[in-house]
Amino acid sequence: MDTVADLATFPVAAYIRAIAPYVGGKPISEVAREFGLDPARIVKLASNENPLGMPPAARAAVEGALAEGGRYPDANAFDLKAALAERYGVAEDWLTLGNGSNDILMLAAQAFLKPGASAVYSAYSFIVYAIATQVLGAHKIVVPATAGLGHDLDAMRRAVRDDTQLVFIANPNNPTGTYLPARTIEAFLESLPSQVMVVLDEAYNEYLEESLRIDSVAWVRRFPNLVVSRTFSKAYGLAGLRVGYAIAQPAVTNVMNRIRQPFNVNGLAQVAALAALGDRAFLERTHALNAAGYRQLVAACEALGLPYIPSYGNFVLVKVGDTDDAGERVNLGLLRQGVIVRPVGNYGLPQWLRISIGLPEENAALIAALPRALRS
Ligand SMILES: *Cc1c(COP(=O)(O)O)cnc(C)c1O
Repeated sequence: MDTVADLATFPVAAYIRAIAPYVGGKPISEVAREFGLDPARIVKLASNENPLGMPPAARAAVEGALAEGGRYPDANAFDLKAALAERYGVAEDWLTLGNGSNDILMLAAQAFLKPGASAVYSAYSFIVYAIATQVLGAHKIVVPATAGLGHDLDAMRRAVRDDTQLVFIANPNNPTGTYLPARTIEAFLESLPSQVMVVLDEAYNEYLEESLRIDSVAWVRRFPNLVVSRTFSKAYGLAGLRVGYAIAQPAVTNVMNRIRQPFNVNGLAQVAALAALGDRAFLERTHALNAAGYRQLVAACEALGLPYIPSYGNFVLVKVGDTDDAGERVNLGLLRQGVIVRPVGNYGLPQWLRISIGLPEENAALIAALPRALRS
């Protein structure tokens, strides 16, 4: 017989025990099994992935690099860093690579947040901010959002205490899709005590219209307490390969680089990211497809009388009912029809669903399934 582990036996800190596990989008295979559906007919609009998949150049690069799988990757990712450095006009020592930008968020917390200190972030912002804060045994200061479910930076500024060491800002934010204009963030950065680190999470930056893209690297030059976080998981189509990066001043980068796992970004991910970075046409296609899909989805919401939050990302947050079981109920109604979206009850939004923007036919499948799911 096995001797069964009982967590109570081990000295696991109360703040670790209290962590709610991250809940991702349901995999297609799991929904197929649970609901007895043909996996080929299931539509997944649940994880803000790029519906075009990997850029072809990235796929070719991965295939070309497979034979090197027996060797450790370049721990300093020389080629990828050189390309990013050129893209942003910074030196290599302004860059930290992560196993996805999730890794960057964790590294920033590990580096700049002490147990017992506090981190500030908005209600309805990316759930990893809560996890990263809790892992460090720091206090979570969750600031109420605006009426439109966006970050209230004035309130966030007021929420900063003497013991606050880290602030997370997502722009655009997930799961709400809200956007903060440059002047608002700039005023926030100017008002903040210089020892408080800010992580500006720009995972959806590439989905913004050109005129809304902020030169956040200029802010990194001006504000030594700023870490800009970006990812290859969303518009660049490499969610499965796990590459993200931070841009920060060398002193900041230096700390994050010392604590990261030496080989946190594997070799296939490195070559794929390098190829994706060079594939401007793919990014443009992605952008156009997303803009059209957004119009398709919000037109359907309007036709069905469903409130939604105007989104600047590759997903839309839609209110599917007025009772707190609405999100789960409509989600189940969609799953039965082979459409996977994301309930956001764990974000405190039980009446809403987050729907990723897919290919036109995937969006159409969701739109076709919605009325019945709403009635269920
Ligand atoms: C998806 C997402 C990320 C990171 O994803 P990675 O795959 O780990 O790069 C970071 N921040 C936000 C707001 C996201 O939605």
